[in-house]
Amino acid sequence: MFTDRVSSLQPEGAYAVLDRAQALEAQGRKILHLEIGQPDFQTFPHICQAGIRAIENGQTRYTSPAGMPALRQAIADYESERLGLPIGPERIVVGPGAKPGLFFPTLALVNPGDEVIYPDPGFPTYEAMIRVAGGIPIPIPLREENQFSFDLEVFDRKISDRTKLVILNSPANPTGGVIPLDDLRHIAAKALAFGCWVLSDEIYGHLAYDGLIVPSIASLPGMLEHTVVVNGFSKTYAMTGWRLGYMVMPPALAERVELLLTHSIGCTAAFTQVAGIEALTGPQEMIAEIVAEYQRRRDFIVPGLNAIKGVSCQVPQGAFYVFPNVKSFGLSSKEIARRLLDEAGVAVLAGTDFGSGGEGYLRLCYATSVETIDQALGKMAGFFKSL
Ligand code: PLP
Repeated sequence: MFTDRVSSLQPEGAYAVLDRAQALEAQGRKILHLEIGQPDFQTFPHICQAGIRAIENGQTRYTSPAGMPALRQAIADYESERLGLPIGPERIVVGPGAKPGLFFPTLALVNPGDEVIYPDPGFPTYEAMIRVAGGIPIPIPLREENQFSFDLEVFDRKISDRTKLVILNSPANPTGGVIPLDDLRHIAAKALAFGCWVLSDEIYGHLAYDGLIVPSIASLPGMLEHTVVVNGFSKTYAMTGWRLGYMVMPPALAERVELLLTHSIGCTAAFTQVAGIEALTGPQEMIAEIVAEYQRRRDFIVPGLNAIKGVSCQVPQGAFYVFPNVKSFGLSSKEIARRLLDEAGVAVLAGTDFGSGGEGYLRLCYATSVETIDQALGKMAGFFKSL
């Protein structure tokens, strides 16, 4: 009855678990939420005020599909500094969140039958958008022993003349892993040799710990003309519900993507874009404070998990997720996640919500208070002891 394009679509695990957790709360159960991946901070007041003023000033109309010129310029300046390359506004396309930045370039680049390489475990939208575009998903395992960077041996075997696009995500959801510069160099050399594009999801680019600066593949020689960088405001500026993100890409591709936006969403809300200009050009000190707070929470949750017999957890370098290994219990990730919710009242995601490569792992989001994390660790310790 429906097209192949939509028949293969699956719900996102995070929303499915949130629904179930909320149903239990409606029955009076207390649930500790470590499932959904969004900052627990409110959007900073000066950004909210800019949005409110924009509505009051009548900035409630259509804008150019690719975004307001002033926002595209502000993003171009910001990305020029971040990537260390001169980036003009003609390379920037704004959209409602980072997600359109994943979907539309894929539609613009992938023909039916083209192969697309992507991380497994990885953000579920990657596989969904590859299938909607009619592409062939080619998962590359992320291995714990490589700090969850790409398995380059498998990558070398899978990349070929049939590969149209390579999707990267660093720092990564769900593992918190960061792809080291040497791995990026290796991937870039292969992408250039096979003439394929790279889509680099850098939405967590500012959320890295221990002073780490996350490298971007777009900054490597020759790569700017073959890369779509996806970034946005959701995570860095705690603006998930505003819906604001963008892409950086070569101007000819930007024109095509702008046409897809024109005929689908039309444009991004004007007052949201004004808030985005304030986010980029206003004070930035709060970001360092927030990163320090996430690092404090990471440094609390990782030892707490490792203290539970049978659980082992690496120290992730970025994002706000931990990906503990629970293979020793001999149960599937799905079963452990379901029972943790039902029996212990702790909402987490199964590693397999991010692809079959996530079997044997759980994903916990630590963008929540230390008190909540502490209570969740206590409940998890009791649950695992009872197995
Ligand atoms: N990319 C990754 C890796 C994510 O984890 C998320 C959100 O969780 C997104 C993209 C989507 O971001 P946005 O809310 O800006 O669309």
